Amino acid sequence: MNDYYKSCGIPKPITKKKHKKQNGYKNKPYRYCYYCKTNNAECHEVFGGSSRQISIDMGFQVNLCKNCHGGWHAQKEQIWIERKKEWQLKYQLEYEAKLIESGVSKKQAREIWKSMIGKNHTDEIV
Ligand SMILES: [Zn+2]
Ligand SMILES: [Zn+2]
Repeated sequence: MNDYYKSCGIPKPITKKKHKKQNGYKNKPYRYCYYCKTNNAECHEVFGGSSRQISIDMGFQVNLCKNCHGGWHAQKEQIWIERKKEWQLKYQLEYEAKLIESGVSKKQAREIWKSMIGKNHTDEIV
């Protein structure tokens, strides 16, 4: 199989990545919390659950110190409920904007987003 692609001019098909990207803890001492600027921040995935891996692959992440990270995950305080919504909306709109820029319609962009993340984070009912 490999020899075949070496000997002819057809470009090798793109193989799917076998290794999952890690939520790297490297450089942690130099990573600062988005909210309180404390170092040793952890990298948090903005979309969790089954979308966590997508978050890592797409960079839908935010750096949070241990305290803030705990607050986000607890989702008990209004401020963290709001912050979570803000980040999810921000990444959705950014992603959709990129798709629209590449020639996809607004409606299609929303469909692509929903098929990827499973949820629409805007208030629009689409
Ligand atoms: Zn987290
Ligand atoms: Zn913090």
